[in-house]
Amino acid sequence: MPASIPGIHHVTCITGDVQKNVDFYVSVLGLRFVKKSINQDLPDTYHLYFGDHVGSPGTAMTFFGWPTWPRRNAGSGQITTVAFTVPEDSLDFWRSRLKKLGVEATRTSRFDTEVLVLQDADGIELELVPRATSLHTVPWPNGPVPAEHAIRGFHSVTMTVAEAGATIELLTKTMGFRRGAREGSRTRFETGGGGPDSTLDVVESPEGPVGEESIGTVHHVAWRVPDDERQKEWRESLLAAGRNVTPVIDRWYFKSIYYREPGGILFEIATDGPGFTIDEKPEALGSSLSLPPWFQVRRDRLDQVLTPIVVPTDLIQGRVSS
Ligand code: ZN
Repeated sequence: MPASIPGIHHVTCITGDVQKNVDFYVSVLGLRFVKKSINQDLPDTYHLYFGDHVGSPGTAMTFFGWPTWPRRNAGSGQITTVAFTVPEDSLDFWRSRLKKLGVEATRTSRFDTEVLVLQDADGIELELVPRATSLHTVPWPNGPVPAEHAIRGFHSVTMTVAEAGATIELLTKTMGFRRGAREGSRTRFETGGGGPDSTLDVVESPEGPVGEESIGTVHHVAWRVPDDERQKEWRESLLAAGRNVTPVIDRWYFKSIYYREPGGILFEIATDGPGFTIDEKPEALGSSLSLPPWFQVRRDRLDQVLTPIVVPTDLIQGRVSS
């Protein structure tokens, strides 16, 4: 087995309203809008990226803007919750911030940790988990959330599958995940150094409902690899384990391979580099439509067909001025 996967690279979801999506992730959660690009397989549609100041691996929450997709239908065969890490003493700050902003949030307990559960503008379930993290994040100095309370990247994703056996076998025997505690139908797994951004929960839900690729659902999770060589090793290892893995695809900001785990959820393995500063300076990230070189010929058309997006700039620390 190749060297272990360090953790989550990015999580990609589907939004039906790109403006509401940007307003929520920037104004409410305080993530930086780091890249406005296109879905390279459906290039008339947006791919939007949010993260820390530079969109470091482990912080990038991304969205396909697909307004004509079916309405939210979440369930088994999908990632059903995306959890972010917040600093250990920040849960009260976040509860009061969300309340002020009119965002409903409830407290619940997961493996003896108190977490906040909320939904984004499209209904995707999110959690804020107070934990110390070793993930190296770069704070966004102009963000609306004071740095001491800012989101520190991902904590985990929760996969819901109808039958967990084959999924767990792939995770532990082929992908190097370690099985951890169990709470009801939920089993926790860790990879790499463990802890935040390296955690995965599997929930077995044989009764359904079965999820559908739709607005307000998670499209896939990408796992990190440091470089092309490690990615190639993982590709060979997954092929040997019988997975149907794509060739390496150059996504410009990183290189990717894709495959489905046995529960039906799309996994990607993405390289850490070159990263989002390949075509924009750190201070200018997200300020214009970024296109890989091979899509530049379409720029005029894309400028016509893509809905303009206004990135909120009137952000005040600790609250939102909208
Ligand atoms: Zn991806």
